[in-house]
Amino acid sequence: MNVLVINCGSSSLKFQLINSESEEVLAKGLCERIGIDGRLTYQPAGGDKAVSEKAMPTHTEAIQFVIDALTDAETGVVKSLDEIGAVGHRVVHGGEKFASSVVITEDVLKAIEECNDLAPLHNPANLIGINACQKLMPNTPMVAVFDTAFHQTMPEKAYLYGLPYEYYEKYGVRRYGFHGTSHSFVSKHAAEFLGLDLDNSKIIVAHLGNGASISAVLNGKCVDTSMGLTPLEGLVMGTRSGDMDPAIMEYLAKKEDLDMAGVMNVLNKKSGVFGLSKGLSSDFRDLTAAMNDGNPYANAAIEVFCYRVAKYIGSYSAAMNGVDAIAFTAGIGENVAIVRQKVCECLEYLGVSLDQEANKLFGDDRLISTADSKVKVAVIPTNEELAIARETVALV
Ligand code: AMP
Repeated sequence: MNVLVINCGSSSLKFQLINSESEEVLAKGLCERIGIDGRLTYQPAGGDKAVSEKAMPTHTEAIQFVIDALTDAETGVVKSLDEIGAVGHRVVHGGEKFASSVVITEDVLKAIEECNDLAPLHNPANLIGINACQKLMPNTPMVAVFDTAFHQTMPEKAYLYGLPYEYYEKYGVRRYGFHGTSHSFVSKHAAEFLGLDLDNSKIIVAHLGNGASISAVLNGKCVDTSMGLTPLEGLVMGTRSGDMDPAIMEYLAKKEDLDMAGVMNVLNKKSGVFGLSKGLSSDFRDLTAAMNDGNPYANAAIEVFCYRVAKYIGSYSAAMNGVDAIAFTAGIGENVAIVRQKVCECLEYLGVSLDQEANKLFGDDRLISTADSKVKVAVIPTNEELAIARETVALV
């Protein structure tokens, strides 16, 4: 079956068409500037990337252009819509309502809408994408795959904050966690690759991308994760601060004459390695180059980033009373050897022994710890689209 995977933002829409038997990506692309003007980037497997300007006043036009591109006589990859068996939609927030992926029904749409308050920038956009798709493909089954679902197995002691309990009851203030599709995919894949029994394993997944989060996966189930009510908590990220003393917010508001929205803007968009490097970059390619040139701010940014990851791995070893394997994934986890090295240097007390040469190599799944390392360390490339396609096929 061919599965169309859709990841819809407020003004953009990423898509991939995946054949579920071969797990091959038949075509992929991106609609941007929806509601402004509109641009479609489309690339069939083995073919050239084509960019075209198209009027996309709403997501419905954007999805129509995606369908047109996929079924185009020359550059398309299917003859008609009949060859698309299902659509898998990434949905950011499923609150406490969804602990797994679901086939989309009217009730499911209502329940997703009820989570809008928890992810006001993302969930409404995800719903718009689903509605637009349903309009154009009324007979195709659709599945919602939630970023939060994998983390719903966390115990109360991990998801409650030290706040008045009523806020949890009244407003759902608790840790939800994000990147769940990736943490689920990578933890399963790491167990398989490392020859561990998933049902009897302690795995820490470090998803280090522009957004970064870490999770403790005990016997295949998430027991803790670093992102919280929103994706702002936890690790230092590209532009997000991650954990900090909450009183800094009031202090900064006074010093910089900011209102709450202004403070949130600083914490979400101007902080992280970008802010630490004095606005040099949020991209580790720029940061490592600058660090090697002796830039002290780039150096500080990378040190703070790695130290925070190492501290979380330490705390998650405590959460699981041990750790069998650590899996690095996402843009930074997969590509930046110096980050993995600096993190692992702090973890020798756990019995982590990094194979320095293996750590420098690039490629697919790979073991980067030495043969006698007590904790196995691996790089496992994530593939959220494939994970969504697999979930979709399993449900339809
Ligand atoms: P992601 O959010 O998983 O797509 O990760 C994006 C981030 O990964 C970028 O901002 C970079 O910091 C980092 N990244 C991706 N590719 C590379 C690379 N080849 N070398 C260094 N950093 C990379």
